[in-house]
Amino acid sequence: MSNQELNPMQQSVVDVLGKPAGWVPLPITVVQAARAQLEMALAPLAEKLTPERPLFISKSSLTTVHGCEAHFVASLDSFEWTILNVRGTVMHKAVELSINWRGPVEPADLVDEALARLEDEESRGPSEFIAQLSPGERAQLRSYAVDLYTKFEESFPPLKASWRPVTESAARVELFDGAIFLSTRVDLTLGAPGSKVIIDLKSGRIYSNHREDLRFYALVESLRSGQAPRRLATYSLESARADVEEVSEGVLQAAVRRVVDGANAIYELTREDRQPKLNPGSQCRWCPLKDSCETGQNFLKRGFEDD
Ligand code: SF4
Repeated sequence: MSNQELNPMQQSVVDVLGKPAGWVPLPITVVQAARAQLEMALAPLAEKLTPERPLFISKSSLTTVHGCEAHFVASLDSFEWTILNVRGTVMHKAVELSINWRGPVEPADLVDEALARLEDEESRGPSEFIAQLSPGERAQLRSYAVDLYTKFEESFPPLKASWRPVTESAARVELFDGAIFLSTRVDLTLGAPGSKVIIDLKSGRIYSNHREDLRFYALVESLRSGQAPRRLATYSLESARADVEEVSEGVLQAAVRRVVDGANAIYELTREDRQPKLNPGSQCRWCPLKDSCETGQNFLKRGFEDD
């Protein structure tokens, strides 16, 4: 498809994510400096850890601990699949299939194929959850996923193979001989190492912490490949709006500071039983403690705007 045939939403994605003429990648020394800064700041923590019992840092653990420590502690080991949180995974699988699909295909057919494949996958994904859904629940999930995929198809230009699109791409960085791991799973990446665009797709609105999530992705990609990605984008399928940030030295350094603070907090809360601090915010709406936490209830009563 030529750019003339793109609708305005697709054209705006091309405009904000395309590589500008004359773009120059960040020097490798910037990535080396970020690694050195991270290792120096985490060294005291690493001395207390062993590869037999390492510390795992993910996007979700960092976001939760920086959001509210009490929420983080209450959410430990409490993840379970629901129709609402699995719909994004189904949509990502449908996007993955669409990239290599030959000929025209309807969103509902891609979603059915995605559901069938996820159900068959023998990994720790949502296979079992999908398999035990009642016909009504499966229909509801299908409806949510078709809605998301249709919005994606309307908003994004057709993904060309030459853009190297990858969905649900997992990455892991091992530090201090396996005492600390940083791990990510990115919704969509475009481009080759050294000029990647990292995209987080949101079914709802964009929150201020989404930019922090992407900076963590940028740091992990930089440490893993030795080359910084080019650009970060949170894309709201609901509003067809992207929040975009160029990867800079400052972005990587901000991510390093957030990882160091988060890793220390996670260690203290999970291994040293430190008392968690309360910090109300948008996360109060889905916190497991929201029915008993007075601070969170008062915050929600006041109302807030965080877009
Ligand atoms: S309700 Fe809000 S303030 Fe209370 S623990 Fe949960 S996230 Fe923290």
